Amino acid sequence: MDSREILPSLLHRASEFAAHSVVETCPVARLKDMLRRVGLRPTRQRMLLGSLLFSGKDRHVSAEVLYQESQAARSHLSLATIYNTLNQFSDAGLLRKVAVFGDRAIYDTNVGDHHHFLVEDDGTVIDVPDVSVSLSNMPDPPPGYRIVGVDVVVRLVRVEGEA
Ligand SMILES: [Zn+2]
Repeated sequence: MDSREILPSLLHRASEFAAHSVVETCPVARLKDMLRRVGLRPTRQRMLLGSLLFSGKDRHVSAEVLYQESQAARSHLSLATIYNTLNQFSDAGLLRKVAVFGDRAIYDTNVGDHHHFLVEDDGTVIDVPDVSVSLSNMPDPPPGYRIVGVDVVVRLVRVEGEA
């Protein structure tokens, strides 16, 4: 299968993954434009992963999940390529690396400042609704440093018999 066939099939898959979203699937032209604006050439692998990531609904994903999704879309990107591309996207400001949970890094398509819930049972990451976290008694940074951001991860476990 050549890349002209792979991309539409991937875009189709991406819209399936975002099925509960009413937002339209990001068209190819818009994705190309988005990559070019941050100085990234729209290579085949960037377009493939971009179509999985930026399908309209914000996502929290690991490289492993994207690997499975790209396999399901019959593309053959290696896990190493996916890691490289994710790091290029986050260096360019398209993604935010949230935190490393265990041996897994989670990438967030919502690059604005916000905090997270982490469901420890299955590693699900959920955005904390805006303005519901307030921090008092912030520590002073060590000499020679300044604070540029605070990422709060509120860890959760499911409660038996609820929800
Ligand atoms: Zn988030």
